Amino acid sequence: MNLYDLAPAPLERTLGEIVSPPFRVKQIEEWLHVRGVDSFDAMSNLPKEIRTQLAERFTIAFPEVLTRTVPASDGSQKYLFRLQDGQRIESVYMPMGERTSVCLSSQAGCAVGCTFCVTGFFGPGRNIAPSEMLGQFFTIRREKEIPAEQMNVVFMGMGEPLLNFENLVTTLDVLYRSMSPRRVTVSTSGIIPGIDDLARLERRPNLAVSINAPDRKRREEIMPITAKYPLEELMASLRRFPLEKSRDLTIEYVLLAGYNDAARDAVALAKLIRGLRAKVNAIPFNADPNLPDWMKRPNDTAIDRFVETLVQHGVRVTVRRSKGRDIAAACGQLRGKEIAKSRATSRAESSR
Ligand code: SAH
Ligand code: SF4
Repeated sequence: MNLYDLAPAPLERTLGEIVSPPFRVKQIEEWLHVRGVDSFDAMSNLPKEIRTQLAERFTIAFPEVLTRTVPASDGSQKYLFRLQDGQRIESVYMPMGERTSVCLSSQAGCAVGCTFCVTGFFGPGRNIAPSEMLGQFFTIRREKEIPAEQMNVVFMGMGEPLLNFENLVTTLDVLYRSMSPRRVTVSTSGIIPGIDDLARLERRPNLAVSINAPDRKRREEIMPITAKYPLEELMASLRRFPLEKSRDLTIEYVLLAGYNDAARDAVALAKLIRGLRAKVNAIPFNADPNLPDWMKRPNDTAIDRFVETLVQHGVRVTVRRSKGRDIAAACGQLRGKEIAKSRATSRAESSR
């Protein structure tokens, strides 16, 4: 068993059965959940016998880093990890001045199947265990030497976090040992039962919701999940989501040229989210060879017009424009390239 698959309370129970006195259990929990070590030998204040005993029974391994992209102009870097069963997932490191964000994957694929998303294009993948989510986090935190108090975490990588709810909650409980829930954001395509489950948590992360279209018809075209969870009901679930003081919802909106980027679309979006305490994050579409040809990123004039129209209608909005940030919006593309390469190789081999 990988000890990183356990939340703090069950971890202490499990350790308590074989380790004593109780302060030793606390020490181990801290080495794991606060410091994020991945070897028992690193637990330098523990007697050797305890370390050996632990190593005989448990593992604390993280996924292996396969590749890191060359840092973009703003320092962002994408990591490709290999999980134990050979699956590949991506994470993104994003330095942002005072703070640093790490974007984590929650599934090794995605069944939601949004038509503008490379992860969706390659189809469903298994749920990622807490140890695999935490492994992405701790590996990047350590490699980049990021002080815990500067960390932000966003679940905006591959997969739909609310379809991996139990593992997500375990991961959150561990993250909260070294950071405030205010520093964690979970992004969803609008899984209504998951949003309601999140609403019931005592310690909630920030919620970001990918709306991406100003009306139900277009949303259903690019996000087929809308048929199951209608836009009107999704908006109702956001209106009942409890928000603490000085917290906002984030409404994500992927801008597709000529499709949902007109000024009237901005007006419709403003109307749709009226009454919500929310800010919009406009994300210019990231093209990829696996995605439909008609999907294009709007030019800067169109992006500006969309943003300005929102502002005129009283909506707070940020736009993800820098080149480096794009790699985050495009999670799944690095793995996509690798899958495409390996398929091409196997085709070439079989035609020999
Ligand atoms: N499954 C969750 C979280 C992962 S996707 C969700 O859908 O919210 C994270 C964000 O990336 C979403 O807002 C999604 O709309 C956006 N995204 C996906 N593919 C994109 C692309 N090709 N270009 C720009 N943004 C994209
Ligand atoms: Fe899945 Fe999110 Fe991609 Fe949609 S945008 S396919 S929900 S990862």
